[in-house]
Amino acid sequence: MIEQIVKKTVEKYKLFTKEEKILVAVSGGKDSLAVADVLNRLGYDIHLLHIDLEISDFSEESKRVVEQFAKGRNLKLELIKVTDYGVRIEKVPPRPVCAVCGTVKRYLTNRYAVENGFDVLVTGHTMDDEIVFFLNNIRSGNFEYISKQKPIIPGSEKIVRKTKPLFFVSDEEIKEYVKENGVEIVKSVCPYSKGNTQTPVKTFVESLPAEYKRDLARNIAKLSEKFETKKEWRYCKICGYPTSSKDGICSFCKIKKYFERKEKV
Ligand code: SF4
Ligand code: ZN
Repeated sequence: MIEQIVKKTVEKYKLFTKEEKILVAVSGGKDSLAVADVLNRLGYDIHLLHIDLEISDFSEESKRVVEQFAKGRNLKLELIKVTDYGVRIEKVPPRPVCAVCGTVKRYLTNRYAVENGFDVLVTGHTMDDEIVFFLNNIRSGNFEYISKQKPIIPGSEKIVRKTKPLFFVSDEEIKEYVKENGVEIVKSVCPYSKGNTQTPVKTFVESLPAEYKRDLARNIAKLSEKFETKKEWRYCKICGYPTSSKDGICSFCKIKKYFERKEKV
């Protein structure tokens, strides 16, 4: 079932072709491993990237699961460690730890894809994730973020094209898929996930029927076009990668600077 939905999404939204070099960011969780497994079965040329967050046993288990996954399917896997790039997954005031983690993951996957000549990046964002983001964007009035809520976000200079083949697949359908297909996923949870404010909203979204959520996702994708703006990218004065920051220094470099200062003290 989810293979059919993914195939249709890839074709309808022209996410990528079988000739393109595709990078799949895998965390060890069910969503990213399911999308990698489906794309592999459908015959796409995928390479895996795992970012080792170096968060105690959780990261150790994630790495082991991803390595087993790649080995079992004969897929190329690249492992990168956050400390090799001068950062750690910790609170960097005023940013909470999960915001640091999100920035670091987004930055490193994009940079790896650009530096290694990938045509496209695949992420494991699901229909449930998109509906939760949508509700949060409406709640906080961040309407410009809705423009990113679609299965494909085109690339530009130093920004790889981003795609979400699971845009119309629910979390529940993924759980069934990994169970039926024996995809081993990480069992432990990140110690920082406690107190995640998104949980009640996520629980509500999960409780909605799959077809109702698919209708919502379809219309969120349509609506996203209406919020599209021509973004003027600046390029970070330190690393040269795109940033929307007014001071010309990207969030990743700011986080890195924080750890450099901390080490000097
Ligand atoms: Fe990162 Fe853990 Fe937060 Fe998830 S819960 S964003 S893995 S720090
Ligand atoms: Zn930078």
